[in-house]
Amino acid sequence: METKQFKAESKRLMEMMIHSIYTHKEIFLRELISNASDAIDKLYFKSLTDNGVGLSRDDFAIWIVADKDSRTLKIMDNGIGMTAEELEAHLGTIAESGSLKFKTENKLEEDNQIIGQFGVGFYSAFMVAKKVTVISKAYGSDKAYQWESEGVEGYTISEADKDNAGTEIIIELLDDTDDEKYSDYLEQYRLKSLIKKYSDYIRFPIKMEVTHSRPKEQTEEEKAENKAPEYEEYIEIETLNSMVPLWKKNKTELKDEDYKHFYVEKFYDYNEPLRYAHVKNEGNANYNALLYIPSKAPYDYYSKEYEKGLQLYSNGVLIMDKCSDLLPDYFSFVKGLVDSEDLSLNISREMLQHDRQLKVIAKSIEKTISSELKKMLKNDREKYEEFWNAFGRQLKYGIYSDYGMSKEKLQDLLMFTSSKENKLVTLDEYVTGMREEQKYIYYATGESTARIEQLPQTELVKDNGFEILYLTDPVDEFAVKMLHTYKEKEFKSVSADDLGLENTEKQEQIKAEEEKSSDMLKAIAESLGGEVAKVTLSQRLKSHPVCLTSEGEITLEMEKVLNSMPSDQKVKAQRVLEINPDHEIYGKLKAVSESGDTEKLGKYAKLLYTQALIIEGMSIENPVEFSNLICELM
Ligand code: ADP
Repeated sequence: METKQFKAESKRLMEMMIHSIYTHKEIFLRELISNASDAIDKLYFKSLTDNGVGLSRDDFAIWIVADKDSRTLKIMDNGIGMTAEELEAHLGTIAESGSLKFKTENKLEEDNQIIGQFGVGFYSAFMVAKKVTVISKAYGSDKAYQWESEGVEGYTISEADKDNAGTEIIIELLDDTDDEKYSDYLEQYRLKSLIKKYSDYIRFPIKMEVTHSRPKEQTEEEKAENKAPEYEEYIEIETLNSMVPLWKKNKTELKDEDYKHFYVEKFYDYNEPLRYAHVKNEGNANYNALLYIPSKAPYDYYSKEYEKGLQLYSNGVLIMDKCSDLLPDYFSFVKGLVDSEDLSLNISREMLQHDRQLKVIAKSIEKTISSELKKMLKNDREKYEEFWNAFGRQLKYGIYSDYGMSKEKLQDLLMFTSSKENKLVTLDEYVTGMREEQKYIYYATGESTARIEQLPQTELVKDNGFEILYLTDPVDEFAVKMLHTYKEKEFKSVSADDLGLENTEKQEQIKAEEEKSSDMLKAIAESLGGEVAKVTLSQRLKSHPVCLTSEGEITLEMEKVLNSMPSDQKVKAQRVLEINPDHEIYGKLKAVSESGDTEKLGKYAKLLYTQALIIEGMSIENPVEFSNLICELM
């Protein structure tokens, strides 16, 4: 028989399994039971509309059979089963495992973490197995197939005999070593406790034949003699799991660990969640929900590949794995599940979208998430900041998208780094800390806080003792513009014309000076050949000679952001070169201008403009020319 090779990634994962970086080999059982349960879910779901299945709810079960003589452990299910092609596709490779591909490219990631995040599944069997055999018959197919593998060398697939649809996984355990006693996995007590620990909530019975012993019936004679009873063994079929899903249990019964454990298992995240909520809602919408806020963004979170959604159950039966209608985009990071008896079981995906009840549930879920976030912000600042660093950007997109439709709901969740102590503050904190004479909420944009701190434009506002919000995310300025105001205070860029810091006397002086130098300023603008819309004398500069600002709708930061997006149309802000009239360079410019040396004035202009570009973090078109100019004028 032909031995087939595993796909490269599968092989690598399997190697990791075999060399067992994972400290908890025991989780293999949980993984296989979970697969069995999923397979039963699928067939059960089918049985609701397809009489051909011929099984009722109570007929479905997972069986565990341990055989010490052959050192084998069997996990059997009467679920949907697999065709030969599915055996090949699902067990020969890790199907579409985007996450693993990503991880293998980033070899720095610890293998351990890969296993954790990925939820390894079937391959975990190789942590304890010498050989794994899978015998499966797909529902609706009349042939059964057998998949066998002894590890990385490859696998074979052949025809097999099996009566009913379902899957049997047969694990031939590794030999015991000094460190690892694999034969423990054949002991009843061990299997029972593992199932209790990891698979208790599985909604189908996990059954095992359990051997008990009891005293034999004694004869009257034996009793009279007071003889010690003899014991006999008997076998009983036991259901090892309670089958009550976690979310249906009483909150008082559950511990913090139970919730966290469930999350790590169910949502393949090796990091504990930052926060969770167990919701039992009655009234306009009846549902139980478990909602989790992860502590880290998945690697693909800010990409098109990321799929939002909550698992949707109807009375304990999984009907959809990622129901996206349950989460607004701005809360797409939330993981969890919703179980409602209000939804009909055989509702189709298309119908679900229009289901009124689902909309009511979604609204209620959204409120819960929002209030959980607010509670976290209020009571656990450190955690909230961790949350903010992972998912804050998504909330800012939320402010900006749909023409600001959700901004009211989200604005109190926002945070920005503030010039005061370089710490994250909320808008409420900013406004509360505003001085009486302060009119605006000031902000400055740039690629990092360090960079913004050095912007000449921030000087004046800071000198007035006003706090500035540092906007470092590309989406920030768009979000702030969409908000426009917060608690009736307008947002104002430190580059804006009117900063509300009127010192009329000084302003008039500058205006008068500008008038006097208008020819020179025009000449400078002209020498820059359309690069700038105008050249002005600045009211905001103190120690710096120049800075670059903009007029009109599009700011310099927006220009950068918009032009970094894939589009042929490039935008350009109306640039304004501001010159500091109190700087000695201004005197020099005037002298050159008065001498009538227009060529030199042009060179100075270029130099100053390029400086302004550099400070602003914009690219310079001709660095060589700039460098030559410096040398020439030195
Ligand atoms: P995951 O369960 O995360 O998808 P696994 O490696 O555990 O990854 O399983 C891969 C696939 O193999 C499953 O998605 C499923 O399609 C199939 N599979 C595994 N076990 C069973 C089973 N007992 N019955 C039917 N299909 C199964």
